[in-house]
Amino acid sequence: MASSASAVLEIDLEAIADNWRTMCRLHPSGSVAAVLKADAYGLGAPVVAQHLFAAGCRHVFVAHLDEARALRPLVPRAMLAVLNGLWPGDAPEYSAAGIAPVLGSLVEIDEWATHARALGRILPALLHVDTGMNRLGLSPEEVDTLAAEPARLDGVGLLFVMTHLVSAELPDDPVNALQRDRFARACARLPAAPRSLANSSGCFLGAAFGSDLARPGAALFGVNPLPGQPNPMRATLRLRARILQIRNVPLGARVGYNGVWTAQRPSRIATVSVGYADGYPRNLTNRAAACFDGQAVPLVGRVSMDLSTFDITDAPGAVTGSWLDLIGPGMPVDEVARRAGTNGYEILTQLGARYRRVYLGA
Ligand SMILES: *Cc1c(COP(=O)(O)O)cnc(C)c1O
Repeated sequence: MASSASAVLEIDLEAIADNWRTMCRLHPSGSVAAVLKADAYGLGAPVVAQHLFAAGCRHVFVAHLDEARALRPLVPRAMLAVLNGLWPGDAPEYSAAGIAPVLGSLVEIDEWATHARALGRILPALLHVDTGMNRLGLSPEEVDTLAAEPARLDGVGLLFVMTHLVSAELPDDPVNALQRDRFARACARLPAAPRSLANSSGCFLGAAFGSDLARPGAALFGVNPLPGQPNPMRATLRLRARILQIRNVPLGARVGYNGVWTAQRPSRIATVSVGYADGYPRNLTNRAAACFDGQAVPLVGRVSMDLSTFDITDAPGAVTGSWLDLIGPGMPVDEVARRAGTNGYEILTQLGARYRRVYLGA
């Protein structure tokens, strides 16, 4: 690593592969895909896709066609599916690239089937059934129509019928069982095909939520799929930043924009080059902490665009050039998220493009 990097994001590919293997053990009823939308939740879809393929993962989901196109040559033998559906006119691009759309409406089914019949080929696709999210997928009425007119699927090679759980991270929410039952009823009315149900948290709901293909995303990257309980996943990233400058400020000094933090004692303030433009949320102002050598050092004052300031008065070993862990073993991504008033998914997907990225295990 060149010495000039002032903020480094370390991504542990073996920890990601380990988390995938954990999901495989938790989901003995079928295979386990990797959901790699949003650049693999900010960690880098190309590298992650290749590493997980080497670990044995054979099914990859993304949200957009362009995301799939970028990954297609990197994992040529994996199923590559686009969750967000099929725009009119895009079918030839999917079939030419060997990418499977997730069809979420009769319009999309007709579009894909018409294209398949025109080519005289069976073209692979997944079918998304809405069981309660009310976001994407066939409505119950559309399932009725399709059950009555199964020839609409002529030419479609159904890889999986899938649905998406609304509240899998809340195991006591009765909507989980409701969705599972609605899904089973819908599948029974549709042509026989493998099924895909659980996301990360869904893999922890027990055998009744098993299917032919689980679709975890966040847990692969270390986000806790069991909020409020110990995290069963391995941490996969560490965000470190070096202290650019240290200043000694007197009692009563204010730090940063608008002076929203005031020193209650003579203090040592360390400035690091990570700010909200790097996805370190501005509303962590006066709320976050970093770790120096295992010791928490509070973030003080406003997070600015490219800089943040920490009170290192109680960490006398920290000097100019020392590294602070903004995310890491002592400050998990879920804790950063809690302090920012969001979830780990949002922290990960906002991780900035300016960090020097170091892949461990590449
Ligand atoms: C994002 C997504 C997933 C993965 O969800 P996680 O909670 O990150 O495991 C699975 N299925 C669908 C349809 C999704 O949109």
